[in-house]
Amino acid sequence: MTHPTPLLDLTHAELANLLAGWGQPRFRADQVWDWLYGKLATDPAGMTNLPAALRDRLAAETTIDPLAPIHAQRSADGQTIKWLFRLPDGQTIETVLMHYDDTRASARARRTVCISSQAGCAMGCVFCATGQAGLARNLTAGEIVAQVLYAARWLRDPFQDLTGLQRPVRSDDRLTNVVVMGMGEPLANYERVWQALRTINNEAGFNLGTRHITLSTVGLPQGIRRMAGEPLRINLAVSLHAPNDALREKLVPVNSRYPIAEVMAAVGDYIARTNRRVTFEYALMAGIDDTPALAHELAALLAGLLCHVNLIPLNPVAESPYRPSTSENAAAFQAILEGRGIPTTMRTRRGIDIDAGCGQLRRRLGQT
Ligand code: SAH
Ligand code: SF4
Repeated sequence: MTHPTPLLDLTHAELANLLAGWGQPRFRADQVWDWLYGKLATDPAGMTNLPAALRDRLAAETTIDPLAPIHAQRSADGQTIKWLFRLPDGQTIETVLMHYDDTRASARARRTVCISSQAGCAMGCVFCATGQAGLARNLTAGEIVAQVLYAARWLRDPFQDLTGLQRPVRSDDRLTNVVVMGMGEPLANYERVWQALRTINNEAGFNLGTRHITLSTVGLPQGIRRMAGEPLRINLAVSLHAPNDALREKLVPVNSRYPIAEVMAAVGDYIARTNRRVTFEYALMAGIDDTPALAHELAALLAGLLCHVNLIPLNPVAESPYRPSTSENAAAFQAILEGRGIPTTMRTRRGIDIDAGCGQLRRRLGQT
């Protein structure tokens, strides 16, 4: 018997080929695509506008959802949910859903899912739980897309998850944003990540706009340049964490291969080609990268660039010596940047009580 085909791994064209090979008319691919990405179906039996024989064949020869939830946690305020999923080969990944119910009239409520691109990560950043475990493998496009669909289903229909967890807010809620900021380095799994992003952007299905999609990278120059040539103009975030090579090398080991000047040159090209504002992520670690002198050095590095700095209070990882900056030091760091004309935001701390920092739940549960 041949292996079943994971449907979420297919592009629209590949799905059309599969169904054409089964003797189906062309419009069936659009119908199946709509079931998968518009209606968020997980079972061909429910695809009621398809002939029964086709539903049976899909059930016998394909699979849909590759994610088996094995653990779920909700933060004390109910606004952050984290799932640990087992993949068909036993690898585990994390996905985090964040609710932002801002009460300011100008702010819209957001529902953001943070998805993983790899099981583990080879980059070894010293403050990151995922980095400590090393890389197991790349995720497939379907495994990446499936995380988005799972969160969207959870928001749409109140359903009981593991540990009796019920979705916290209201039913018929919609996912508004996707950030590729979970486990793994997305530009080290470029093809599959981009196929997944094209799938969720596709208007005939999930139809999530490019401005609602953000990819975060440790800073791989070739990947950044390649992104600049993509027709889809998503948001780019680069994890900087230090303004000079001596310090960044200690925190982000890949900096010895791609020093800051190379990363900044690639980002400069990206901005020149896309005219899009780039975000730099900077995790503030007490006594490490949070001094006023480093804030000034960072301001000098970024002066004149179409960018924005996202200051992140470090999520402490067990057995790691790194600690978050005090709020006074963080505020002082931010004030220096702002004073020198660099736009900043301070990310609100999310789900700290549920190990929501990337890789932390998987690490704590020993699922590697
Ligand atoms: N590999 C990519 C995307 C995944 S990590 C990257 O490095 O950008 C997503 C973000 O979380 C990165 O900015 C990363 O530096 C940050 N991060 C990792 N561990 C963290 C921790 N313990 N506390 C705060 N931010 C962390
Ligand atoms: Fe990998 Fe990003 Fe973690 Fe660094 S911070 S180890 S690149 S997941």
